[in-house]
Amino acid sequence: MLTSYRLAPPILTWGEDGAPHSNQFDDVYFDKEAGLEETCYVFLQHNYLYERWKSLTTPSFTIAETGFGTGLNFLYAWQAFIEQAPADATLHFISVEKFPLSREQLINALKMWPSLTDQSQELIKHYPPLSHGFHRIELAQGRIQLTLWFGEAQDGFAELNADIDAWFLDGFAPSKNPDMWSPTLFKHIYRLSHQGTTFSTFTAAGIVRRGLQDVGFEVRKVKGFGHKREMAVGELNQQTNSFPERMAQGQAWFNVRSSHPYSHKASKHVLVVGSGLAGATTAASLANQGIKVTVWEQGGEIACQASGNPQGMLYPKLGSQDTPVNRFYLAAYLYASQLYSSLDENKAFWDQCGLIQRPTNEKERTRFATMLASGLYPKAVMQPKQDEKDSLFLPLSGWVIPTRLCETLLNHKNIEVQLNTQLVSLNKEEPPSLPWQASHQTGTHAFSDIVFCTANDTNRVDYLPNTPAYPIRGQVSYLPLEAAQAACEGQNELHTPYVICQEGYVSPALEDTFHFGATYDLKDQDENVREEGHARNLRMLETLLKLKANTLKVENCGGRVSFRCAIPDYTPMVGPVFNPEIIESHYATLSKNAKWKSDKVAEVSNGLFLNIGHGSRGLVSTPLSASYLTSLITGEAAPIEQRIINRLHPSRFTVRNLKRQ
Ligand code: SAM
Repeated sequence: MLTSYRLAPPILTWGEDGAPHSNQFDDVYFDKEAGLEETCYVFLQHNYLYERWKSLTTPSFTIAETGFGTGLNFLYAWQAFIEQAPADATLHFISVEKFPLSREQLINALKMWPSLTDQSQELIKHYPPLSHGFHRIELAQGRIQLTLWFGEAQDGFAELNADIDAWFLDGFAPSKNPDMWSPTLFKHIYRLSHQGTTFSTFTAAGIVRRGLQDVGFEVRKVKGFGHKREMAVGELNQQTNSFPERMAQGQAWFNVRSSHPYSHKASKHVLVVGSGLAGATTAASLANQGIKVTVWEQGGEIACQASGNPQGMLYPKLGSQDTPVNRFYLAAYLYASQLYSSLDENKAFWDQCGLIQRPTNEKERTRFATMLASGLYPKAVMQPKQDEKDSLFLPLSGWVIPTRLCETLLNHKNIEVQLNTQLVSLNKEEPPSLPWQASHQTGTHAFSDIVFCTANDTNRVDYLPNTPAYPIRGQVSYLPLEAAQAACEGQNELHTPYVICQEGYVSPALEDTFHFGATYDLKDQDENVREEGHARNLRMLETLLKLKANTLKVENCGGRVSFRCAIPDYTPMVGPVFNPEIIESHYATLSKNAKWKSDKVAEVSNGLFLNIGHGSRGLVSTPLSASYLTSLITGEAAPIEQRIINRLHPSRFTVRNLKRQ
């Protein structure tokens, strides 16, 4: 069990030539004299990457590496891929690193390679905090997708859902680092490889050659680089399991893969239903991968339901436990914060001002104190704040104008938005490539895939199985700064530089107005703004701003009501739509033995996907969910851990019910 999300950087000694040397492993990261040539010789040439990329017929190519280190192999592969591969192809590069370099160490190490300056600078700009788990980093306008696992190599590959074309088996010399080259690591290398997957490694050590041979790779020794006598290369000539079966890992009911590892993006046309945060992030993520997208929005404008509040905050609830849900929110939070910062350099809709989370009760106060004292998260993610005793400060957080964010996301040459367009029926015709016939009020159109970002309207779509989604009413209130100042004269200065969250939230004033809330009204369908809702919000605002009770008056308030879409386990539903009856009949054994394992995939994706149930946390959870859905539609590497994939899976309630029987 993980005891901390925070990883320690390596202890390095810098040689006179400026090259880093690991004190833990007593080994070098690269050879200063010939680092680039060695990368080229060992990893690119001996995986035949120049030839493979020049004649690439798949829309993407996937490399996995053991030991990210300074990222030299990655940067070199990135540069070569852009030079060699077709202009519309994507490179996925997945790498694991147990001792990730700090940003400062990375800057220092990469200074050495002037020919890679452009790539290095982009990587450094997007380099994530040193927190455990996957980090998806999109570079070169989306053509280079880096998935970094910070943590033990074999744990990362156990959580990976991807089909690897070539392996860079780096890592320090097996004699100095025998633990990494474990049978479990080789087992996952096989699981993640298809027929024709190649590997190369700088070493010819017996432990590595035998490990790969034992799982089925053909292994050859060839001349090593420079003074090294030998190195090992090879390929997998036989893989008996299909891609979905290899990803099942005993839980085939959570399959998310179709049988075709790659789907041609150019022939796809995806319908996204809904244009709120879930819809807009999904459409943008697909469009950035060269996929044509049509968005149908039943309202007269985009983001007109729960994503239409004037100001929202990036507020992850980071817990003290190592659970799939907590891991999801941490990864999603870092991804969203990075996305908003790169989309909005001019601060048109995003202000990364930081967020204060105050405890709401004694239990929470103790938990916060423990999390801070133990340094559970890296400082870049969570830290104490001197003037806010007992609270958590999240420096990467801030506030967003959600409609402007959605507008920016949807403004893409591959996206067409159709307003006042409601999905009324759906039919499936057997392939060709666009099997889904979707009808709106006045016409029918064909699509390859459909993503439902339809929140509380999802259960109205006939074709979909019923979901347990339910609405929770939320009223937000607005108060002009001037009115607030007049009412609380002589009390605290009415200013907050951060978003403050406790029972509710308030953001720094936007256009001289405070936006705060929101009420949380279960089983309440009232669409009208109510004075009693304002009153509740004002009492909460007084607490947040440390004002005397009943200072602020309802008369000056404006507001808006919307309905969050919640799921009973407070986790979004993101993934493929499957027929519950097929799951119940194929996996009926689960009702007798909840621990039963099966790799037998009963159903592969038919091109329908759900992306709903983001509750009040859509600004946190939708961007990474969108990237994950894109990986399902393209057949490419998933950006999230398998345990998170299972936890978000739309079939999870069907599986839980089966197990409970
Ligand atoms: N590929 C790197 C580059 O291009 O700079 C150089 C890799 S360096 C020789 C080996 C890396 O493997 C180190 O960064 C080390 O921390 C990492 N490593 C060693 N053991 C590991 C393990 N068990 N799990 C994950 N990473 C590990």
